Amino acid sequence: MTNLDNACASRPPASPLADAARIVLAGDAGARLLAGPPASQGRETYDQYRARVGALRLEGRDPRELRHTVRASGLLGRGGGGFPAATKFDVAADAPGTPIIVVNASEGEPASRKDQTLLALRPHLVIDGAQWAAHAVGADDIVVYTHRSHVAANAALRAALAERGDLAVRMRIVDAPETYIAGETSAVVSYLDGRGALPSRGVIPAARVGIARRPTVVNNLETLAHLALIARHGAAWFCEVGAPEAPGSTLLTLVGAVRQPGLVVEVVGPATIGEVLATYGGLHDVARAVLLGGYEGTWMSGETAWRAPIERHRLSALGMSLGCGVVAVLGDEVCGLAQTARLVTWLARQSAGQCGPCVLGLPRLSDELDAVVAGRSRRSDLRRLRELATSVRGRGACGHPTGVVALIDSALDTFGAELRRHLRGEVCAPSSALHDFPLPGEDVER
Ligand code: SF4
Repeated sequence: MTNLDNACASRPPASPLADAARIVLAGDAGARLLAGPPASQGRETYDQYRARVGALRLEGRDPRELRHTVRASGLLGRGGGGFPAATKFDVAADAPGTPIIVVNASEGEPASRKDQTLLALRPHLVIDGAQWAAHAVGADDIVVYTHRSHVAANAALRAALAERGDLAVRMRIVDAPETYIAGETSAVVSYLDGRGALPSRGVIPAARVGIARRPTVVNNLETLAHLALIARHGAAWFCEVGAPEAPGSTLLTLVGAVRQPGLVVEVVGPATIGEVLATYGGLHDVARAVLLGGYEGTWMSGETAWRAPIERHRLSALGMSLGCGVVAVLGDEVCGLAQTARLVTWLARQSAGQCGPCVLGLPRLSDELDAVVAGRSRRSDLRRLRELATSVRGRGACGHPTGVVALIDSALDTFGAELRRHLRGEVCAPSSALHDFPLPGEDVER
């Protein structure tokens, strides 16, 4: 079954929408996940939510019919992997044991704000999505896996849970380790099983055998918020926006040299990255370069970004990934290689310390890239860097090393002019704008 075997495959072409209707903010007309009060009003209370959406009604809903609706919707996971949500539900429902639902709210990507924003503004949508997921698979336990540093989001969640006397399945909050890889599904399961946030390359999916050997469905928070709406409005409604191959709206976080770093927008109609940045990033001209998909995403030139569609399948055909939805704009005064070297230094420290190519290879890659930026490398050194990257790619128990290599590869391709200058021994002036790409422990407000 492909993701085109859904209700979206046969929908009529969407009518053209004005720019402002295709890309929306919290409270705007046409918003889906962000429908409701504007962000300035903060958390939507249960009274407001119930008046707008209605109360949660699970009784009378056949779990199999619900799973079928999710399958028909074509909902893909929004944590970065783009895995069909229905597949996890089907596996868990058919596996022996009583399933557990994990709401992955850890958002370990330093530049991403979409999950925290959604939880801070629309906690009841997330709660309802988790309850629907539990109903669909017969789960009796829901864990919200979040970081204590997400202060506003966690406060909104606790306040929202205190308002709910109607929950069929109890929900408990677990504080996740604040590391980059702690949100990877196998690391989540490992941590909640008491073994530390250590990723593993298992052949048995967590949805079959997870926490305490029970079927465990780990879903990104945005995915569950979509589920809450699909359960109410149906698959056909969900497919009215997005592409047939990747239906539904998408949340993006705008970062870097934009008007309001950390702003979260919802894309509800066909749009390019350039249109998003022109509408809400405050950019009047094409940016120099954009890093798409987070710090293990891919760099692209501003020209490419301006034309790139915000559609997972079309980006994938171009060798890019929307990942967790981060769109990070490089400032004109910042060297793209210096920014990449800074990110790689941090990423190399995020290794969980259990696989040789990751533990040994990433620091060496970081050193090699630092040498390029410092003007100490020549062409032969660059060859060694590329060979090292090749030897690390695809190794290790998780995708961390491969993600770092993708970042470096795309930087070397995108910043060819800077690379040539550095290989001639030139060095860029230091720029405080490097910190426009936030890293934990620096100037990060979460
Ligand atoms: S590849 Fe790196 S981050 Fe992933 S499990 Fe191995 S050591 Fe940990």
